[in-house]
Amino acid sequence: MPLKSFIEVHPESDFPIQNLPYGIFSTQANPHARVGVRIGEWVVDLAMLDEEKMFEKQYGFFADSTLNQFMSAGREVWREVRQSLIGLLSSDNSPLKNEALHSRVMVPVEEVQMHLPVAIGDYTDFYASREHATNVGIMFRGKENALMPNWLHLPVGYHGRASSIVPSGADVIRPRGQVAANGVPEFIASRSLDFELELGFFIGTGNNLGEPISIENAYEHIFGMVLLNDWSARDIQAWEYQPLGPFLAKNFATSISPWVVTMDALEPFRVDAPKQEPAPLSYLTVDSANGLDINLEVTLQSATMSAPQIISRSNMKHLYWSMEQMLAHHTVTGCNMRTGDMCGTGTISGPTEDSYGSMLELTWRGEKPIALPDGETRKFLQDGDTVIMKGYCQGDGYRVGFGEVTGKVLPALK
Ligand code: CA
Repeated sequence: MPLKSFIEVHPESDFPIQNLPYGIFSTQANPHARVGVRIGEWVVDLAMLDEEKMFEKQYGFFADSTLNQFMSAGREVWREVRQSLIGLLSSDNSPLKNEALHSRVMVPVEEVQMHLPVAIGDYTDFYASREHATNVGIMFRGKENALMPNWLHLPVGYHGRASSIVPSGADVIRPRGQVAANGVPEFIASRSLDFELELGFFIGTGNNLGEPISIENAYEHIFGMVLLNDWSARDIQAWEYQPLGPFLAKNFATSISPWVVTMDALEPFRVDAPKQEPAPLSYLTVDSANGLDINLEVTLQSATMSAPQIISRSNMKHLYWSMEQMLAHHTVTGCNMRTGDMCGTGTISGPTEDSYGSMLELTWRGEKPIALPDGETRKFLQDGDTVIMKGYCQGDGYRVGFGEVTGKVLPALK
């Protein structure tokens, strides 16, 4: 018998009892942002549960307006809280079946406002999809030089910008910047605004400066994951990126989904990652399965469309480099990760043309525009377009999902 809650949850809901992701929410009745856990169409107020002494001990940190203190407590505490919540939401004699308590701690999801779940100190974005790196390489450098010589030996990444990470639903203003389509620089509103379909993972417990996280221990440091849209201005990127990589092309907005899905909830969906050939150096070598089977989908809705249209379907399992490898590589110099730091996987493209994770690839740099209803087409994003990304793991009769991350493109400032 699969685990079941007494709370009614639709079989296609992203949020059954097997999931229990954490987020930061507030309500009109109580505008203080605090920690909640999602189940079905409800948010359980963990600050209130803690205050009512419904856990075996009082944690205190669920009244915080970020998950950081909870994340810093470590995997044993994460598991303890998860086990308590599973008990409270499934047992026949749960105190949550008491009507008075139920009405104090269970908040209907339509009444909540979601906030950024984590105070993010540092943000690093990787480039871990072989398909994405190959496609972009072909477009920017030609087929012969598609993958740079280092790519199969290390997870390439760059240090991103944490200050412009925004929660799902936040509008994104089209950036202005310097481009040079014909080698002559000009300052314009970007004409090639794009999305990147990614997942983000959060560091729960960090490491001391000078003490790398080994590949064997990397998993223990990861608290959970969110959907991530790494908005990108391709024309700005093409001019600025050599030799140090993207700068302004990606620093104006990064959107993330509000519910942090834990590694414990994702555990049943571990799969083998693609075979790595040549074998990486030993500090990047693991023998356990380290991919995740997470179905991903991107939809686009223009200002005139009445419903969104699917433009890409991909899956995290295609990623060449694992999160553990990214984290081991990131810290191998002794670089210290801190609680709340976020890493992006890089655009997750699959092997087929309908599974590419960016407009750049889907339209092949504008050569094959996407057809939308009513005869509209898209090479890149237009003002008024909304991009919606979703993701879920399919279990036997249930899903563990991420909900969605959405963002609407607003015109550039005058
Ligand atoms: Ca990216």
